[in-house]
Amino acid sequence: MQEGRCPGAEMGSAFPVEPVPLLHASRRTFLRAAGMLVAGLALPRARANEKVRTTANSGHKIVVAVIGGVRRDETFAPEGLVNIPHLSTDLLPKSLFYSHARNEGVTAHFNAISSILTGNWQRVDDWGKLAPTSPTLFEQYRKGLGVDRSDTWVVASNKALTSLIGASSDSNYGPAYGANVVFPKQLMLQAVADALRGGRTANMADRSKVESELESAMEGSNYEGLGWNVFDAADRLDPRVRSSIQAAIAGFVRGGGPTSGDELTFFMSREVMRKFAPRVLVVVFSDVEAAHFGAYSMHLSGIRTADRLAYQLWQEVEANPDYRGQTTMVILPEFGRDPDGSSTNGFFNHRANVDSTRDTWMMTLGTAVDRPQIVERPIRHVDLCPTLADLLGCRPLSVQGTRLVEFQG
Ligand SMILES: [Zn+2]
Repeated sequence: MQEGRCPGAEMGSAFPVEPVPLLHASRRTFLRAAGMLVAGLALPRARANEKVRTTANSGHKIVVAVIGGVRRDETFAPEGLVNIPHLSTDLLPKSLFYSHARNEGVTAHFNAISSILTGNWQRVDDWGKLAPTSPTLFEQYRKGLGVDRSDTWVVASNKALTSLIGASSDSNYGPAYGANVVFPKQLMLQAVADALRGGRTANMADRSKVESELESAMEGSNYEGLGWNVFDAADRLDPRVRSSIQAAIAGFVRGGGPTSGDELTFFMSREVMRKFAPRVLVVVFSDVEAAHFGAYSMHLSGIRTADRLAYQLWQEVEANPDYRGQTTMVILPEFGRDPDGSSTNGFFNHRANVDSTRDTWMMTLGTAVDRPQIVERPIRHVDLCPTLADLLGCRPLSVQGTRLVEFQG
């Protein structure tokens, strides 16, 4: 995502927090502090600076990177390869690559990801007001094998998702067996709201200025800034990280360096890997959804960001001793986008019942790859859950998907 600047910060105007720490607070500092915040919020009993798991687990680990809606035309088509240099050059040669991974369900975000996570085509509310109706991979794994919640995480930057993505409404499973679900950008806004409420602003005029500067920073070049809410149920800042969070946030706003939702999601995912080493981590990137605003260049920029961040995620898998040599990573889009010239505005949307919208690809890296190969046989998104469940040692459930035979158990 293209870097933008916060206009308010460019002006160097008076800022209603202490200036000294701000001079040294970088965006990196902010992000690091925000990562600690997430860890503190999501697992309040965990020590923020220690891994929950003190010994490396010998079991198979799973990382799934889901990228919003991208067409083949802009990715694994000859004219699209320029947008995905890491996927096509660095990762493809070592991967088990499915050329045709089909979404045959609802091509909207919550349903698409629910289908991937459950192995059944889900047809619940598009905006995540209802949980998936059959057990997610997290629930199957946790209930079946007695796994702790800290071993299953979703980190996402798609505002069409809600925390209901982490567990189903199945009465035999449900939230008691669900994953930690984290929306880093919401947490950042939430932390800002807390900082504002904390009395660090001199008066209401300053407060509204801070808020407007923050909004500018967050919206910047990123469509996701639109429509995000600051959650009121946010007064749970871990005291151990509160001051660093506040200083970092202030520096972030003052520095005027808006980062994209996906950058923040990547950072947070890596922090979760380093602090908690979960056995199942699902990361949802969605900068590509800038397409909904008709910005083709931003959509392409989002693809390049996802390409880079997916690669960096794999690099973390290879560098992190808790993951190296025992992890399967899967990268796939939720769906494509509508074809140019369609009645639904082409790449803007993902509603058409055509291959451009339904037919994408899936890349597998790591332990489950017996040998690099390209599989032309079409597979379905619902095939992934039973495949991963088998890798994790779960008892097979009756689902619409079928285990993919190319994955090495
Ligand atoms: Zn979308």
